[in-house]
Amino acid sequence: MNDLQKRTWVEISLGNIKHNYEAIRSDIPSGCRFLGVVKADAYGHGALRVASLLQDCGADYLAVSCLDEALELRDGGITMPVLILGHTPWQYTETLIENNITQTVTCLAKAEEYSAAAEQLGRELTIHIKVDTGMSRLGFLCDGSLSEEGIGHIVRACRLPGLRAEGIYTHFAVSDESGEENRAYTRRQFSLFLHVVEELRDRYGVSFSLRHCANSGAVVNYPEMALDMVRPGLLLYGYGDSSHRLGLKPGMRFVTTVTTIKHYEPGTFISYGRKYETKRRTRVGVLAVGYADGLPRAASGKCSFATRWGPVPQIGTICMDMCMADLTDVYEAEVGTEVELFGEHADINTLSAAAGTIPYELLCSVTKRVPRVYK
Ligand SMILES: *Cc1c(COP(=O)(O)O)cnc(C)c1O
Repeated sequence: MNDLQKRTWVEISLGNIKHNYEAIRSDIPSGCRFLGVVKADAYGHGALRVASLLQDCGADYLAVSCLDEALELRDGGITMPVLILGHTPWQYTETLIENNITQTVTCLAKAEEYSAAAEQLGRELTIHIKVDTGMSRLGFLCDGSLSEEGIGHIVRACRLPGLRAEGIYTHFAVSDESGEENRAYTRRQFSLFLHVVEELRDRYGVSFSLRHCANSGAVVNYPEMALDMVRPGLLLYGYGDSSHRLGLKPGMRFVTTVTTIKHYEPGTFISYGRKYETKRRTRVGVLAVGYADGLPRAASGKCSFATRWGPVPQIGTICMDMCMADLTDVYEAEVGTEVELFGEHADINTLSAAAGTIPYELLCSVTKRVPRVYK
């Protein structure tokens, strides 16, 4: 990117992501495998770039959400194992096998469809069984009165021809949240998962080489739940409540520039809707970023950004392509000055809280017109 074209961009530090990978690796038990979650374009950081990095670093597995994301990795030359966490229609069984992609299986009916398709081809599809232990989204239900039936269905799924059941996993709903109720809920999910795995092994002789459940929250808060493999996403990119404790660094900096500076008298309304009125003579900077770049409009007037001389409050409604900031107290700022929306100097948690959302959503909301600059 030419310096004069610098409007708004994200700087992605592969060095920081590598640092985070190594920090997490050294925090988990030795021998525990590492699956890096690179769905949603690696939380906006660029799936292929991050996947190549993880492959070079010696990570064991990758996970994506859907077939297209998995094929992007294979087409880009990624050869390490890739797990699809979501649904793939059975009609694509051949594509999955052909590309050596592992598919999650969430119920017996789907297992039967994949099995029939794989058998027809005379090939084998590698699968991971998903158990619903309390997220109430995907997976075999094995709780309470459904225990016998759920476990029975998993056994039947694993014994179907054309399927190779390599792994079994579950997903936590509140492993990243504090409070005794949440901790009890996570522990209950974990013990149910262990119970299912033990029943399968002891009563039916069905066992798996990869048992996994630890998302970012569990990697940090429940190290005893690492099992055979951990499955972090957010943490890898350097975000999340405990990222500081592990010394993790943000993978992404969202940066814009000041394009115009004007002075307004007290009592001037700024931007759409006349939501903000100046209280003093105000030096207003027009920033080259708006909600069409991924700055949430819901944060209008509730957030502040970082400059090298200190924070600048955002004022008035955030527009599609622009927003305004009060530069009065940062007199050094001029046209062309860089303003960080989130990154090392502006905490993404503050911006996401102002917008009433979570860092995850901000990371994957940076839009297509924002160039990614890799460091
Ligand atoms: C997205 C996802 C993860 C990663 O979650 P983080 O909170 O980002 O660590 C792990 N497992 C599953 C099944 C997911 O969908």
